[in-house]
Amino acid sequence: MRIPFLAGNWKMHNTVCEALNLVQDLIISTNDVKDREVVVCPTFTALQAVSKLIEGTHIRLGAQNMYCAEKGAFTGEISPPMLKELCCRYVILGHSERRNVFGEDDELINKKIKMALDWGLHPILCVGESLKQREAGETKDWVKGQVEKDLHQLTPSEIEKMVIAYEPIWAIGTGKTDTAQGANDTIGMVRNLIADNSSYEVAQKVRILYGGSVKPGNVDGFMAQKEIDGALVGGAALKADSFARIVKYEEI
Ligand code: PEP
Repeated sequence: MRIPFLAGNWKMHNTVCEALNLVQDLIISTNDVKDREVVVCPTFTALQAVSKLIEGTHIRLGAQNMYCAEKGAFTGEISPPMLKELCCRYVILGHSERRNVFGEDDELINKKIKMALDWGLHPILCVGESLKQREAGETKDWVKGQVEKDLHQLTPSEIEKMVIAYEPIWAIGTGKTDTAQGANDTIGMVRNLIADNSSYEVAQKVRILYGGSVKPGNVDGFMAQKEIDGALVGGAALKADSFARIVKYEEI
C-alpha cells in the first residue's frame, strides 16, 4: 500500500516571510489529513524558517536541488549535509527547469541521486518529454531512457526510497495536462521498468507522481488512476487554499 504523496514545488517564489505565511495557512487547512504525505519544497533561503515552523506537524520538507559533493569549491551550490541539517527529507532532482535552463544531464542527475541517498535524503526524480517528442510519439521511449540513465547502478534498496515524478515538459506551467489515462499509462510503464530492472516488490513500493498543471479542478481525475500515487504541483501550490484542495483530493 503506497501512501499518497502531494508535494508543492515553489520554484523561485516566496520570501521567508511569504513562505511562513503560506505554510502557516497550510498547516491549519490540512491538519485533518491523516492518510497522505504532504510535502513543501521552498527556496533554499526559506528552508530553515519553514523547517522550524513545521516541526511536530504533518508537513514534510523538501529542497528543490542540491549538488553532488559534501563540501568544497562549488560556488553557489548547496550540499546534502546542509539539507539534512535543516531536516529536509526530500530533494527534487532532475526537474526539467534544471535540465533545460541550467544544462543538467542524466549523468549529473545520477550522481546527485546517489549522493542524496548516501546522505539519507529521498530524491524526487523528475522525468518527462518535450512537446516535440510527444508529437513524434516518443514519450515512452524517452521517459524510459531517462529513468534508466538516472537510476543507473542503484541498488534495489536505494530505488525503493525514490519518488519519481512524471512531468511532461509541455504541461508544466502551461495549463495543459496529460489525460489522466495517458499519465497512468506512462507511469505504469515506469513501474514495469523498475520491476524488470529491479524487482516486482521494489516497483510496488516506489511512489510515482504526475506533475504538470495539476489544479484543484483536475486532481481528482489523476488520483483516481491506479498507477498514479500523487502529484508534484508548481503554480497551484503557491496558494494555501488551492494546494489544500489538491491535498484533500476526493476519491472518485
Ligand atoms: C512543476 O514545476 O514541477 C510543475 C508541475 O509546475 P505546474 O504545476 O505549475 O505545472
